[in-house]
Amino acid sequence: MAKEKIESMNSEIDVEAIDGAIKKENALELLKNVDVILDCTDNFSRRYLLNETAVKMAMPLFFAPCREMQGMITTVIPEKTTCIQCIFPMPLEKEKEMPILGAVVGTMRAMQATEVIK
Ligand SMILES: [Zn+2]
Repeated sequence: MAKEKIESMNSEIDVEAIDGAIKKENALELLKNVDVILDCTDNFSRRYLLNETAVKMAMPLFFAPCREMQGMITTVIPEKTTCIQCIFPMPLEKEKEMPILGAVVGTMRAMQATEVIK
């Protein structure tokens, strides 16, 4: 499983695995003990939910969606930067599966991790 794989890569971290999806009803509870949010979702309904939760909790949100051969990246710092809802008042695409190049995902995740470290 992902938890064991990630923990095997770094013995100094503990991964808390959650079996279930984040929803409006559980978002505040699931994210109450984290320091930052990395958006790795594949749809705008969850992106908006993470954004709303980040703003409510005054927590940084690292946004890096990708599809096909492209990606974009921004960081939301509540009360300092604009948020995802303001940047994208409407979803960019219909929510359907889009083909994506694996290297694009890897590149975007590396850039997102760099933003978190900065
Ligand atoms: Zn906003």
